[in-house]
Amino acid sequence: MSHSPLPTPHSPLLPGATIGVFGSGQLGRMLAMVAQRMGYRVHIFSPDRGSPAGQVADCEITADYTDQEAVRAFVQGVDAVTFEFENVPAHVAMIANEQGVPVRPGGRVLRTAQQRLREKTFFAEANLPTAPFAPVRSLADLENGLETIGSPAILKTAAYGYDGKGQVRIERAGDAQAAWHAIGKQDAILEDYVDFEREVSMVAARGANGAFVHYGLIENRHHNHILDVSIAPANVAKQTVAVAAQYTRMVMEKLDAVGVLCVEFFLCRDGRLLLNEMAPRPHNSGHLTIEAAVTSQFEQQLRAVCRLPLGSTELLRPAAMVNLLGDLWRDGEPDWAALAAFPTAKLHLYGKADARLGRKMGHITVTAKTADEALETALAARVALRR
Ligand code: AMP
Repeated sequence: MSHSPLPTPHSPLLPGATIGVFGSGQLGRMLAMVAQRMGYRVHIFSPDRGSPAGQVADCEITADYTDQEAVRAFVQGVDAVTFEFENVPAHVAMIANEQGVPVRPGGRVLRTAQQRLREKTFFAEANLPTAPFAPVRSLADLENGLETIGSPAILKTAAYGYDGKGQVRIERAGDAQAAWHAIGKQDAILEDYVDFEREVSMVAARGANGAFVHYGLIENRHHNHILDVSIAPANVAKQTVAVAAQYTRMVMEKLDAVGVLCVEFFLCRDGRLLLNEMAPRPHNSGHLTIEAAVTSQFEQQLRAVCRLPLGSTELLRPAAMVNLLGDLWRDGEPDWAALAAFPTAKLHLYGKADARLGRKMGHITVTAKTADEALETALAARVALRR
């Protein structure tokens, strides 16, 4: 139960207050850890038991998101509600609103980010640049879309698939039928295949008073559509960072998003930035802010949710983060003792028992004098873990 002194919707939630989090993965775990450091209590709601976030939370409620009674009871026991992933049913935010418990970010942001077609349409209507795209609800739509957009193209299910799931690359118009079958003949979005120079992301935060801060651009490298490595600061022109900040700010203001939000961009060879997608929460590419920035993305989320002033996003040192996927466990437990040779490597493990291939089990962050040195050390540390 809450112990804070009768908060109004406009007063900050101070240490001692209880934050309710829907979702229980590593993002909730890292949020819970920072919230507890700052004296808050954290309740976690998800269908899973013994989850990464549940293991460290003050209270873990295990129920389905569709269980409205359980959601109502959970919301009654917290002072504010937030999310650690965006695919939580819309009624969850509605129930919290009905009970007068602040929900940050709000339902509109979640709804927009939950579905690729809605998301890209929102970007386009806001005059934000994206790869050319077309909605696909039938094979005929796909064939027409391929005629307009050309090939190669990429077909993605409209409902979010994580980490490259629900996506097929189409090399030529003749492959339309096979691609339509491959994604299970469901609502989709067809996009021009961007021959980008690099992928970059901007993690930003917006306070309830409209204050906006960002961490600059982070370079991201993917492997099998899953984030593999992030590097900060990205080696890009100052003007590119300024443009990304302007776009990210527009996204947050138009959606009236309060909290942390990450926009992923393609940086084209001619210097243009195209918005690929957004996540209305801390993002894998921002994990390096834990060691590299004055205020981590998780503390920033807590601050925004609690109506505290946002913290400094100053980068203290260049940094690199490498993900540790389940693949690293293929031949048994990784060789943790080998990390002794890497005194600057910071290990994060998410408490997941089942190391499936492609599953995010943890990450390593290294800070150094230069981004190149941080990257080299982080990659070497990961290699040393292999059995
Ligand atoms: P997404 O799930 O949309 O973030 O896609 C995962 C990854 O697939 C991206 O980070 C890119 O590496 C790649 N990708 C997605 N869409 C495109 C596109 N239109 N053109 C080129 N590569 C893409």
